[in-house]
Amino acid sequence: MRVGITKNSALVVVDMQEDFCEGGSLPVRGCREIVSKINKYVGYFQRAGLTIVATRDWHPPNHVSFRVRGGPWPPHCVAGSEGAQFVKGLKLPEDVVVISKATEPDVEAYSAFTLTPLHYILAMRGVKRLFVVGVATDYCVKETAMEALKLGYEVVVLIDAVAGVSEETSKKALEELVSSGAILAVEEDLIR
Ligand SMILES: [Zn+2]
Repeated sequence: MRVGITKNSALVVVDMQEDFCEGGSLPVRGCREIVSKINKYVGYFQRAGLTIVATRDWHPPNHVSFRVRGGPWPPHCVAGSEGAQFVKGLKLPEDVVVISKATEPDVEAYSAFTLTPLHYILAMRGVKRLFVVGVATDYCVKETAMEALKLGYEVVVLIDAVAGVSEETSKKALEELVSSGAILAVEEDLIR
């Protein structure tokens, strides 16, 4: 399906952080591989003067999602740490909108809209269509895209620039997104 990068579009780069890439504390296979494709998308949006958002997990050291607190994950993306930095080689523009999420010790947040100003910022800029890339397909990409749909955005998941924790749950996540109204696309589908 052909999809247009319209004037009211924005790119949302989800959690492209060192800890989620190979060599990090919670690596998603394929994370480093999608960096160059994401850079290409960033270039398209940047040249068109469109909003580019980069979300990041930005946890306190005692975050509820960590195993020491009974959560499912090893410690990762502790605010300010090396592992929380954006992936080496990721080229974000100077005016990128950085959204830090899951910053409260007792609240997990896979969606970049949870307790952040993201919806407000996008609404102020008249954004209606979101193109979503990043990691992990089955967690933060999924939940961010799902919440965007609920908030009334048109959502396009660029499936040549996402990577997931497991193949099975990633496939399920994409199916769920499609049944909820998201469009799946690759670079060749874009009209820009
Ligand atoms: Zn996290």
